[in-house]
This record gives sequence, C-alpha cells and structure tokens, in this order.
Amino acid sequence: TRRQAHLMRDFGATVLCATPSYALHLWEAAHESGVDFRELPLRTGIFGAEPWSEAMRRDIEEKMGMDAMNIYGLSEIMGPGVAMECVEAKHGMHLWEDHILPEIIDPVTGEQLPPGQVGELVLTTLTKEGIPMLRYRTRDLTSLDYTPCRCGRTHVRISRLQGRSDDMLIIRGVNVFPQQIEGLLMESDGLTPNYQIIVGTSNNLDTLEVRVEVSDTLFADEIRKLQMLENRLQKSIKEFLGVSAKVRLMEPRSIQRSEGKAQRIVDQREKS
Ligand SMILES: [Zn+2]
Repeated sequence: TRRQAHLMRDFGATVLCATPSYALHLWEAAHESGVDFRELPLRTGIFGAEPWSEAMRRDIEEKMGMDAMNIYGLSEIMGPGVAMECVEAKHGMHLWEDHILPEIIDPVTGEQLPPGQVGELVLTTLTKEGIPMLRYRTRDLTSLDYTPCRCGRTHVRISRLQGRSDDMLIIRGVNVFPQQIEGLLMESDGLTPNYQIIVGTSNNLDTLEVRVEVSDTLFADEIRKLQMLENRLQKSIKEFLGVSAKVRLMEPRSIQRSEGKAQRIVDQREKS
C-alpha cells in the first residue's frame, strides 16, 4: 500500500478507482509515510463494490482532497460502470438506459414497483450480443429516479444501494430491510451503529424488537430523555416501515460482538 501511494504521487495520477475502504487504507499508508493526498494532482475517486455511506464520502473527500463518486456494476452485465454518479449533483447514479433497461420489483411477489420505491433491481441488456441478459435479478436493493438531474443528463438514476434482497425480513406481511432500520437509527444523535433486530412470535403474530446501544454521553443522561427517544424511534419505524416495533436502548457495549460480519438479525420464529 505504501508503495502504491508513492507511485500515485510519482506518476501524478488524477483518478483513483478502488473500493472505498481500500482508499482509506491507502490514505493511512500515505499519511504514515508523509505523503499528503491533498497535495497530489488527484481530483476524482471512483468507488464501488461494497456498501458505503454519505458520511464515508465526506471523510474520503476531506482526507484525500478529491470528489468521491459512487459507481455500480456487476460482472454478469458488464462489470463496473452499469451506473455512476455525475460530479455536478452526486445524487443518484445515472444508468446507461440506451444499453440497459432497469426495473424494480418486489423481491417476494416479483411485481413491478413504481419509481421511488425500494425493491430489487432487475436488468435487461439491450445491446449486449455475447451473453445477453433478460430480466436478470441482481438481488441488489435500490430505487429508480426519473426526475431530471441538476447536471442536465436525462438518464434514470438509481439510488445508493441499500443492501441485498436476501437480507429481507417479512414481518406481519410487510417487507422490512435491516438497512432501513439502520438508516432510521443513524438519524438520531447519541446512538451507536451497534444494533440488533430480534424477530419473534406472540399469539401467532410476528413481533419486532430493535435493540441499539447508546453512546456513553447519552447513557449518562436522564432516564426520561432515553424513554422519549425510544418512543420517538418506535414512532418513526411505524411511520416509515409500516410495522410496529419495540425499541430498547441498551447500555454501551452490551450487545455481543462477533468476529467478522456482525450478527444483526436474530429470528426466533418457528419455521413451519
Ligand atoms: Zn446528474
């Protein structure tokens, strides 16, 4: 990594393509060996192949002094570049509609969903001759936006990917994605990204409980404030996802950590 950082400096590279986490890794290596990315001619970073957030974009842009752009692709279609953000708006990835026809479907029923609704992205290649794909199910969750973009391009945009349809939970007939709950939790100050979703059964009905660790500062606050926050979170989950959930704020470091991928979902329902 250190050598790569030095090569980028010596060649005067202006664009970096990587996964966002690798870019930050590069930055660390460069930083340790005295190379400041902000002083390099580097202008643009093209990042994809793993989920990342707006917060991570801001972090990369600030540390590396460049525009950090989101790109989407999959090897079954053409590899990277199925869709990419424009530098002017950085608000949704423009998809090459003259080559690829996108649809969003409900991953369970297969029914097509209207623009704006989150579901599974399905792609059909229009110009590919070797291995054409017809209504290929990507398992990636996103939504389509046909409104005109600030940059003037008219191609449809797909939103930042929200996870995989394989992660979907069905709670009392409603499709719920863990990332949607995570998104709602992250909007509140004082909550940490350590959370767990527990699905159970009571009187033959599915129950949903969300446990989330609070920060040390919030934990030291009045009980009344914590209860108000719990109520507020329950209300927003009901409002945005359409299911009732019990929210429990947990002491810092009380949710068990796992090595490797965090275990977010505990499904205690009996499988019939
Ligand atoms: Zn645009």
